[in-house]
Amino acid sequence: MANKMNLAFSALSENESFARVTVSAFIAQLDPTMEELTEIKTIVSEAVTNAIIHGYENDPNGQVYITAELKDRELELIIRDEGVGISDLDEARQPLYTSKPELERSGMGFTIMENFCQEMKVISEPMIGTTVYVKKQLTTTKAMCR
Ligand code: ATP
Ligand code: MG
Repeated sequence: MANKMNLAFSALSENESFARVTVSAFIAQLDPTMEELTEIKTIVSEAVTNAIIHGYENDPNGQVYITAELKDRELELIIRDEGVGISDLDEARQPLYTSKPELERSGMGFTIMENFCQEMKVISEPMIGTTVYVKKQLTTTKAMCR
């Protein structure tokens, strides 16, 4: 059986921790390891930060949308914005590429997200927005100890 949640919130940097904590609370029912929890929080944090600072360029009128779905021990996360979009996705996904070096971004967000999951897909269109899909399989070790 699938179990799904949806969240929508204003593109304010102070909502980044709200999003991280909310998704963590939702997946807590699977009793994830500390490492898995840290990785999932990092994915949410990177994607939400991107939506706020790049997608909406800090315009709080923008809304960030998160869907999290659990199928057994697989987590599917969707983080979406209706912001400026990305014109060259291959370039954007390169490690160390950033369009905002003046803000001291390191250009590692996509690379980090990709490393912390099994599958990542990014769909983006200029002036339409950006959607990041992530699939992460949680281990069964802890649940099996019960
Ligand atoms: P860091 O995440 O290390 O602080 P960064 O955000 O620049 O730096 P990435 O997260 O890898 O690096 O993103 C790379 C580039 O892709 C960004 O600089 C930006 O140009 C573009 N980008 C990423 N997400 C979005 C988004 N939601 N909307 C528009 N552009 C985006
Ligand atoms: Mg980033």
